[in-house]
Amino acid sequence: MHWERSNLLPEALVEAVASAVRKLTDEQNMDASKLIGGGMPGEIGHSTIDPNGKLCECGKRGCLQTYITDLALLQEAGQIKPVGSVGELYRLMHDGETWAFNIIDRACTYIAITINNVVCTYNPDTIVMAGSFIDIDPAILERVKGKLEEFIREPFVGTFKLTRSQLGEQAIMIGAAKLALQRYLGNGLQQQ
Ligand SMILES: [Zn+2]
Repeated sequence: MHWERSNLLPEALVEAVASAVRKLTDEQNMDASKLIGGGMPGEIGHSTIDPNGKLCECGKRGCLQTYITDLALLQEAGQIKPVGSVGELYRLMHDGETWAFNIIDRACTYIAITINNVVCTYNPDTIVMAGSFIDIDPAILERVKGKLEEFIREPFVGTFKLTRSQLGEQAIMIGAAKLALQRYLGNGLQQQ
């Protein structure tokens, strides 16, 4: 899945998953045929986290993307003070600003909830995340993993790898690898 202010680009997802898989297989000498995956088409950014939440550009309330994109994070922070980047928000958290901590902590919670939903639906081998929020600090990934201990459905504990891509995407992206990439290409993109 890949979302930002515009709609999902399946190609971007395929590229992201394929790239991440290549990196994983190169680094860890893994068998790509066992790992490589199609991702999931769709717009998980518009999955509902809170039906009474913030109004989304799609017209629904409480979509995931209203909480975890850079824009959403900075808009939230802006209610306290102007913040220019998620990196700055992160620094404010480390400076002891409780409101900054709460914004970041909530984003991590919602990412973990989403990962649980993805895992329950697709049972992937690997979840690959990318984006400036995830790239702020390796501690963010660890924080998400910590949240997962709370939210992941018990049978799925330890069944997948959660990792970070190096793609440098601007928006948060979550891809799941399990099914054959070719299958995804065949069943997904050709339906566009
Ligand atoms: Zn939406």
